[in-house]
Amino acid sequence: MRASDLVRIDLNGNVVEDSDKSSRDVNAAGFTIHSAIHMARPDLFCVAHTHSSAGIAVSAMTEGLLPLSQHAMKFYHRIAYHDYEGVALDLDERDRLVRDLGQHKAMILRNHGLLVAGTSVAEAFHQLYMLERACAVQVAALSRGRPLTIPPHEVCQHASDQFKSFENDEAHCAMPWDAAPRLIEDGKPDHRG
Ligand SMILES: [Zn+2]
Repeated sequence: MRASDLVRIDLNGNVVEDSDKSSRDVNAAGFTIHSAIHMARPDLFCVAHTHSSAGIAVSAMTEGLLPLSQHAMKFYHRIAYHDYEGVALDLDERDRLVRDLGQHKAMILRNHGLLVAGTSVAEAFHQLYMLERACAVQVAALSRGRPLTIPPHEVCQHASDQFKSFENDEAHCAMPWDAAPRLIEDGKPDHRG
C-alpha cells in the first residue's frame, strides 16, 4: 500500500481525488461502514476497520472481548458490538452501525472484524493497535485450554479509567503514531510514492 493507492471520496462515495488517475472503484462495503460513522460522528475524524485473524476470531466469540490483558482494559465497558448482517452493501445498515457504536470509539463487528475511530489519525491508530493486541492475546490465552485469571471488576474499571485519563494527553497517542512510519520506512521506503 502506497500513498498513490489512496483515493479521496465524498460522502456519496464519488471519487473526488485520485492521484493515480485510474478511476478506481471504491470498495462498496467499506464505504457503507466508514461513511456511516463519518456522517453521524463528525467528531471522529478517522475511522479504521480491519480483518485480522485475531479480531475476527474474537468477533465470533459469544463472550466478546475479555479483560484478560492490560491492552484489553482500555476497552473495559468501552466497546460496542454490531451483529453481522451479511456483506455491508445495504446502506440501511449505516443506521444500525451508528446506533450500536453509540458514544464509543471502538466496535467489534460480529463474525467480521474490528472498527475503531478517533478524533485524530493518531488516536484511531492507537485504538486499533491496542485492540488488535488485546484480541491476539485473547486468542492465544484461550488456545491453551487452561484456567485463566480475570482481575476483579473494580480493578478492571480502575485500569479502564486510567486509560481514559491518558487520552487527554496528546503525547499518549502521538508517540506510537510517530513511531509507526519509522517502522514502515525501514521495510517499505517507497510507501510515500
Ligand atoms: Zn470488513
